[in-house]
Amino acid sequence: MPWSGKFFKPRQGPVVNLDGKEYVLRRVIYEVRTRKKLAQSESVRPSCGEANCIHPQHLTKEPRNTPLIGRARLPSTREKLARAQQAKAPYSMEEVQALRGRCIRGELTRVAAAKCLGVSVETMERMVNGLAWRDFSNPYQSLTA
Ligand SMILES: [Zn+2]
Repeated sequence: MPWSGKFFKPRQGPVVNLDGKEYVLRRVIYEVRTRKKLAQSESVRPSCGEANCIHPQHLTKEPRNTPLIGRARLPSTREKLARAQQAKAPYSMEEVQALRGRCIRGELTRVAAAKCLGVSVETMERMVNGLAWRDFSNPYQSLTA
């Protein structure tokens, strides 16, 4: 049952954008079906092998690949470090997420968004891909790494 939407990520599959926030559809569907929260360390994959499948019965939980988590630091440690760094920045998470959403929707170029924040295009690229300024309050945010 492949998703007919427009946005996909290579690892997480179909994603949807709501109010500038990005949600990995399979995580949402899995949690609704099982009524259980997924841990950061767990990922959801379709058992049927269809890359963009979202059939609730095909979604199975498995541990996220260890290289994805990062070797030395636990997710909670990374979150603390990220929050400390973000508290010092001259812009807010809301601003970053708003620009991220506009870049994902193609309303704004990375170069223009980088100028808004006064950061490099590389940094903006990392923000858009969820590698920097990850929104830890949103468990469905996707990562393109
Ligand atoms: Zn399937």
